[in-house]
Amino acid sequence: GSAPTPDSVWRTQLLDETHTQALADTMARSPVLANVVIALHGDLGAGKTTLVRHLLRALGVAGRIKSPTYTVVEPHEAPWPAAWGAHTGAPLNIWHFDFYRFTDPREWEDAGFRELFAQPGLKLVEWPEKAQGMMPTPDADLSLHPMDDHEHSRRLTFMARTPRGQQLLEAARS
Ligand code: ADP
Ligand code: MG
Repeated sequence: GSAPTPDSVWRTQLLDETHTQALADTMARSPVLANVVIALHGDLGAGKTTLVRHLLRALGVAGRIKSPTYTVVEPHEAPWPAAWGAHTGAPLNIWHFDFYRFTDPREWEDAGFRELFAQPGLKLVEWPEKAQGMMPTPDADLSLHPMDDHEHSRRLTFMARTPRGQQLLEAARS
């Protein structure tokens, strides 16, 4: 079955942005990232883009990291992390999506998103709700929620949806 089991959910608190960065650093050590879809949920300002930026940096993406707010997708390339092994000489492909402004389903085919999701690589997706029924089931759903008492604290819920997502969850909480 696909019903979530207790093992499929991890809840934690990111007390400030250094905790968010530390989570990104830990996740970046997992070779599972070579081919997963990670959905990021949470209101505007929750910290989705911030987590993605830290993850991209941790993976060795250099230069300015643009937000895909207006472009829907920003592609990135990182050198294959040495610690991951299985090095073929190919770089790691990463796509950062933000579907907030995605309104026309016809755009899905026209923009080549179907082909893109079929490529091996890391897909990080903000506002996946807006691409429901089009994008594949994510391996993991991460939700960020601000905490009432602290401006810089976020509650994180990490839900694994697939065995690969479960591997990533276990790496993330280690
Ligand atoms: P979203 O993409 O969810 O709309 P952003 O990442 O663009 O949100 O903005 C989050 C803001 O919150 C940034 O200014 C970031 O510096 C700030 N922030 C404060 N604390 C945290 C934290 N613990 N984790 C992530 N971002 C944080
Ligand atoms: Mg964002």
